[in-house]
This record gives sequence, C-alpha cells and structure tokens, in this order.
Amino acid sequence: MIIVMRAGASEEQLQEVIRKITELGYQSHVIRGTQRNVVGAVGDERGKARLQTLESLPGVENVVPILQPFKLAGREFKPDKSVVRVGALEIGGDRLTIIAGPCSVESEAQLMETAQVVKEAGASILRGGAFKPRTSPYAFQGLEEEGLRLLAQAREKTGLYIVTEVIQPEHVELVAQYADILQVGARNVQNFALLRSLGDVRKPVLRKRGMATTIKEYLMSAEYILSQGNYAVILCERGIRTFETETRFTLDLNAVPVLQKLTHLPILVDPSHGTGHWEYVGPMAKAAVAAGADGLMIEVHMRPEEAFSDGIQSLKPGRFLSLMEELRPFAEAAGRKM
Ligand code: PEP
Ligand code: MN
Repeated sequence: MIIVMRAGASEEQLQEVIRKITELGYQSHVIRGTQRNVVGAVGDERGKARLQTLESLPGVENVVPILQPFKLAGREFKPDKSVVRVGALEIGGDRLTIIAGPCSVESEAQLMETAQVVKEAGASILRGGAFKPRTSPYAFQGLEEEGLRLLAQAREKTGLYIVTEVIQPEHVELVAQYADILQVGARNVQNFALLRSLGDVRKPVLRKRGMATTIKEYLMSAEYILSQGNYAVILCERGIRTFETETRFTLDLNAVPVLQKLTHLPILVDPSHGTGHWEYVGPMAKAAVAAGADGLMIEVHMRPEEAFSDGIQSLKPGRFLSLMEELRPFAEAAGRKM
C-alpha cells in the first residue's frame, strides 16, 4: 500500500503513520518529495486491507494499493527515476555511466595497465572479478582478497570507482570494505540468502539479470535488496538464454524500455556477456544506448588472447577507445552526456 501524505503534513503526522504501519506488522519505506511525502507499507499481502484504515489519520491524503508484485522497485511507488550516487558519480542521471575493465583481476600489472587505459578512454568505473562464479570448478576462480586489494590500488592510482562481484553472503562484509559497488552476478539472481545479506550494506549493488529470469523475476530479485532497506540498486541486462547459439547469450534489449517503464532503478547493459564476442560488442553497445540504457558495462583486456576468462568477448584498448568515440552521437541522440 502507498500512504500519500498531504502537502504540508507535519513530521509528527508522518511518524504516527510509520508507527501505525509497524504496529500492523508491516515495514515502512519513506520517500520524501518536494511537494509531499509518501510511505510504502510492505509485507504480507493477506490482510493488507487493514492498512486502508490509515486513511483516517491526520495528515494522510489517501491510501492506494500497489498492484505490481515488485512494490518498492516499481514506478507505482516511486514515479521519478532514481539516481544512485557513487562518490561524485550519478548513475541514472543525464550522464551515461561507463564501466569497463577485465573480466577477472589477474595480476597487478594487468589491472593497473587496464585501469589506466579505460580511464583515459573516459570510463568512470573499473570492473574486475576477484571472486569468480565459474561454470567449471576447474576454471580460474579469482584472486579473492588479493584481487580486492589490487582493485583498491587501481582506484588510488586512477580515481576510478570500482565494482566487483560478491558470490556468497559470508563475503559481503569483506567485499564491501574494498568495493564502491557490489556486483551480484547472473548466476545468483535467486540466491535469496545473498540478496538479503546485501540489504544491510551501505554500498550500492549492481544486480545483473539472470540468464533465465523473466523481467518480473528480475525485479523481484532487486526487490529483495530494496526490502531490506538498501535502496541503491542498479540493474544490468546481460543477455538471456534462447535457442540461438551463434552468440553466447541473446542480449535482450527489449528489457531496456520495459524496465524503464516498470522501475525507477537505473538500467545498464552489458554487451560483452550479452553477445560473448568482441566483434558484436560495439554494435550492441550503441543499440543499448539508443534504446535508453543509463550506461554500459564492457569487458576490456590488454591482451585478450592471454585472458584468464572471457578473452574472446573482451575489447582491446584501441577498440574500446574507438567505441567510446563512436558512442558519442548515440548518446547525444538519446539525450545523454558522456
Ligand atoms: C561478470 O560480469 O563478470 C559476470 C560473471 O557476469 P554475469 O554474472 O552476467 O555472467
Ligand atoms: Mn566475464
């Protein structure tokens, strides 16, 4: 339910509404607007009609149900787009967010070189996996804490913010000590224990779409994080499984306008995993920007043929630099700065 406060309702009246919501066994989530405040009351769908009685409280304008199952992620609750702040960056604002870097953190030299290159090309966030969720238990699993230290070192050197994946709840605290944004990968889209554990973290979460999740299931995954009180969630479309085998996944760009309509959360696109081949990354990056994405996540490697993971879909520095230039007219046409 959404409890819409009257314009000019007092703070005491708002607090009374919150107290009543808690008393009825629901969680409250407040959005403070310039004109008026609204309170989302979420919890057990059964018996939610009791919340309707809040309409009689002083300062309350009306009480309306939220019809979509993703209560906090949806535009019903929050019509205006959310901007997730990372230091001086605004993800979901006018400026296109560019995240770039290797699939995995492999060594100090590899990461520092790549960080420098993507920084000079205009990226603002460095990516790199320290804990890797690999399909094979025999594949490179990541440098773990050493990888996190190297990412922090790259931030020091370049001023880039860093995003890295967390794959289990026990690691959340450790990863949060180093990362500016915690990534949750496609393979963990319904790892509910992990999602819940991200609610307490005071760091943004980049929630990638699962390769076999519908848009609704994807938003419910984000809802887990929001419902725990962490509102800084960024979405990232990264391709889904279809019958097509020419590309690694099928980058679902339909998801961009659909998500822009359904949710207020920022939406990025990862054309690297979405296509699985460097040759297709550029065209799909441009298409994503044209479709209205708030930013891109792109894998870049100094020597893709030597990469520990995902070399084939990684751009060489020169190609990334050209792509950044080629993206400008697309960004401009979509009303974005770069
Ligand atoms: C990644 O970005 O490194 C990654 C593993 O992506 P995904 O979870 O989308 O497969
Ligand atoms: Mn990868």
